[in-house]
Amino acid sequence: MSEQLERLNRLPLRGNLRGLEPYGAPQLDVPILLNVNENTHGLPETVHQAIVSAVSAAAAGLNRYPDREFTELRTALSRYLEHGLTAENIWAANGSNEVLQQILQAFGGPGRTLLSFPPTYSMYPLLASGTDTEYVAVPRGADFTISPEAVAAAVAEAAANVVVLCSPNNPTGTALGLDVVEAAYEAGEASNAIVIVDEAYAEFAHAGTPSALTLLPGRERLIVSRTMSKAFALAGARVGYLAAAPQIADALRLVRLPYHLSAITQATALAALEHAGALLANVEDIKTQRDRIVDGLAELGLKPAPSDSNFVFFGGLDDPHAVWQGLLETGVLIRDVGIPGHLRVTAGTEAETTAFLDGIKALMSSRV
Ligand code: PMP
Repeated sequence: MSEQLERLNRLPLRGNLRGLEPYGAPQLDVPILLNVNENTHGLPETVHQAIVSAVSAAAAGLNRYPDREFTELRTALSRYLEHGLTAENIWAANGSNEVLQQILQAFGGPGRTLLSFPPTYSMYPLLASGTDTEYVAVPRGADFTISPEAVAAAVAEAAANVVVLCSPNNPTGTALGLDVVEAAYEAGEASNAIVIVDEAYAEFAHAGTPSALTLLPGRERLIVSRTMSKAFALAGARVGYLAAAPQIADALRLVRLPYHLSAITQATALAALEHAGALLANVEDIKTQRDRIVDGLAELGLKPAPSDSNFVFFGGLDDPHAVWQGLLETGVLIRDVGIPGHLRVTAGTEAETTAFLDGIKALMSSRV
């Protein structure tokens, strides 16, 4: 046992936190960072300036607590999402991680289960243990897909209290069909399950890929979770949100900390939403770079999964760690998600993407 773990275990830590590791994508000082699915394109200058002005105005009132209901932000988010949604349907928090945590605080907890389908977002089990919710993992098939039948059977068998479906899925990149969401929702009727569709990467999907937002009418246990960290290039501002029936937001009001969204956060998010057009133009370029990566890796004989996100998951590697290390030595950091034979890379700017593709081509031709 490491000295650090021994020290930690001397404390009266809750049993279900003993031996756990914190979420830990390496934060290394490397010129090209393609490891945590950030928006690599930065903020356009107009958006940067708009945020600076909005934050400056908000700073003048920082002696007061912010609007606890962040009504202006909820209205702006509902307009952005369309689908007939209004402010009552929206809730937000400090990143979609906090949104998910609040959902588990309200609907999970001791004696309750969170069901998901790995390989999927690595925070789900940590959010479960942090809220004392039992995590039930039903693995995907060999090709990392899940069928509506398999999902329905898993939901029924687990009598799940909360189900989380990630679409497009992290780390595999592929979106789910709405039939999978419908199947989870219907199978969850018996246990009155909350069904979350985590659409953190929705804006990067190929045209025609439907969002679970279309399924919300009439489904009061369905939650669609989104974030401003990816398409809106605001990972550092920490703004995530959800769309659902108004009573879901009412449930989360019971567990949120008062004034959890700072005035600076609200001002930043509002300014960015006013410039959604400029930010979504960058999303189009990121999609182009993503498709270059898929094509480039396939040309090298590797096996990229179809991607509806801003990253590409690829297999066909004999020694993924050696490829990860070789790229790091050329100044490109990508992600080893611990799945045999596979790695994951975030789409970069055009120059960053070229550096990645050149780097991996050189490594594959020297047969790492
Ligand atoms: N969901 C998924 C699938 C993610 O990949 C991430 C970020 N990596 C998040 C949620 C959380 O993002 P944030 O808290 O920045 O909104």
